[in-house]
Amino acid sequence: MDKTDNKTTPDGGRKPFSRRKFIAAAVGAAAVWGGYSYLFGSQYRAAKADRKVDVLLIGGGIMSATLGVYLSELEPNWTFEVFERLDKVAEESSNGWNNAGTGHSALCELNYTPMDDKGNVHITQAIGINENFQISRQFWSHQVRKGVLGNPREFINSTPHMNLVFGQENREFIRKRVEALKASPLFAGMEMTTDPAKIAEWIPIMMEGRKPEEVVTATRSPLGTDVNLGEITRQFYKHLSGNSVKVTTGYEVRSITRNEDGSWRVSAFDVNDSSKIQTVDAKTLFIGAGGAALPLLQLSGIPEGKQYGGFPVGGEFLVTDKPEIASRHLAKVYGLADTGSPPMSVPHLDTRVLDGKKVILFGPFATWSSKFLKNGSYFDLAKATTPSNVIPQLQVGAHEFALVKYLAQQLALSQSQKMDALRHYMPEAKDADWRLWEAGQRVQIIKNDPVKGGILKLGTEVVVSADRSVSALLGASPGGSTSPAIMLSLLERVFPDQMKTSAWQQKIREIVPSYGKKLNENPELLAKEWASTAETLQLAIASPSLDGFVPNTAPVANPGVIKKVPDMAL
Ligand SMILES: Cc1cc2nc3c(=O)[nH]c(=O)nc-3n(C[C@H](O)[C@H](O)[C@H](O)COP(=O)(O)OP(=O)(O)OC[C@H]3O[C@@H](n4cnc5c(N)ncnc54)[C@H](O)[C@@H]3O)c2cc1C
Repeated sequence: MDKTDNKTTPDGGRKPFSRRKFIAAAVGAAAVWGGYSYLFGSQYRAAKADRKVDVLLIGGGIMSATLGVYLSELEPNWTFEVFERLDKVAEESSNGWNNAGTGHSALCELNYTPMDDKGNVHITQAIGINENFQISRQFWSHQVRKGVLGNPREFINSTPHMNLVFGQENREFIRKRVEALKASPLFAGMEMTTDPAKIAEWIPIMMEGRKPEEVVTATRSPLGTDVNLGEITRQFYKHLSGNSVKVTTGYEVRSITRNEDGSWRVSAFDVNDSSKIQTVDAKTLFIGAGGAALPLLQLSGIPEGKQYGGFPVGGEFLVTDKPEIASRHLAKVYGLADTGSPPMSVPHLDTRVLDGKKVILFGPFATWSSKFLKNGSYFDLAKATTPSNVIPQLQVGAHEFALVKYLAQQLALSQSQKMDALRHYMPEAKDADWRLWEAGQRVQIIKNDPVKGGILKLGTEVVVSADRSVSALLGASPGGSTSPAIMLSLLERVFPDQMKTSAWQQKIREIVPSYGKKLNENPELLAKEWASTAETLQLAIASPSLDGFVPNTAPVANPGVIKKVPDMAL
């Protein structure tokens, strides 16, 4: 390619995006939608159902799997069914290779502890995420004890969560963050050092070849984990299939209509032969279709779904499986976003255990396509653009233009520029040792706020219809690693009456012993849960001692304003 043509920069990357190009693309997408809905607007409705079930789960990822496992234990006599469009379950975002596998606990993700304009570091969000991960540890431990999950080495591994930041200003932020987190027992045992020799002991490959005058600061928590969400998902479905749950793969749900009795008629089409259709009537429907949850929610026609739009964003990692590198790195090391970049875009150098092998991932780099799933269609965005979300989606494009521009810059990076980004963290990384890997696709929530218009939301959101017969999970991060807490919150909203019964209360407490209690305020209970889950999950690194720990739950004394920064869930 001519390196001086008008699409490329002199070093081979692509030129950044302009606001004009963005608006043209958005208007084009809306036009495609208009044409599409004119041609294919109404949905199929089968005259009768082949089967009736109590609960139908759409999508074979970790969210549906987790809900299925909860419900099959709470109500073993209910009937359940699952439709998955691909040939196998766990092939989209939940696949181990398609995500970063961080057991999100806010131990190293710096965006969960923002600093206000008076220099106070706020830890409320970090506490919430960490509390949720404690639910995951308990839920998975319970499943290991029941034999639903097998050898924990296959799906969770102790992997210290670390930070590595550069420069004096960032050092001060880290110092304040570590100090603020001392208020909570959830973050006990976190160490901080500015000594390059100590950092080299922790993460040698990230210090070799680094200039001695560089100002470096690192933190390390022994509580971190690497999680293989795909392995958990596959084992959950194996268990469900063995317990009379019908899991149908290779069938895509394309129709969701309402029956007179309030149940849902759902038709799924064989992806290779659309004349083959299976139709199920379900009393309760859960849409756990990952990025495709939004269009399916729209198919249901419930008014609660109308306020949402979606913004797809994908990720790409540099990967090495060279044993001489992989065996010398045991940590997930998160940096700080460069000024002007979205916080969640922070690159990290991660130890992973995938397919029984240790590999190192660096990234993610943002990618963009109009698909809502890695194996989706380029028409996904256009098809999910409706009269009620087209304006909010365009508003986000205009208000969050810094984000759109950041994305365009990421897209413009050549492979050698990506290697340069890696060398910022691992100076001696060699091109020949690393290859690029396309990870999963996510759809970030765009919500229509009555006052502010379209806003881009970072987290996940459970959407439930007024009569609670249909629910869906939208959004991205923190994701699969906190799925047990997300699905518990869904149970509370979809089945509030059952949740109040002593039978459900008792079973929920068997599954998640700390249910209803704040571990942050209860160090003794936290220490007990850490000990019990670490033993069951065979976590190799000991939890820190909490003897005599007195939590400080007082709010920040003189809070300032936290600057809103555009964010992106990668
Ligand atoms: C780059 C990247 C990094 C990430 N890093 C982390 C991390 O470090 N830690 C973490 O906790 N989370 C991370 N996540 C998020 C995590 O992967 C997701 O939260 C989680 O996998 C979502 O699970 P899910 O079941 O909702 O969706 P998915 O795993 O995507 O499953 C949805 C399923 O629904 C199926 N489906 C879709 N439409 C239909 C239909 N019409 N009919 C039938 N089936 C359908 C799909 O084929 C798919 O199998 C990351 C994600 C990405 C993309």
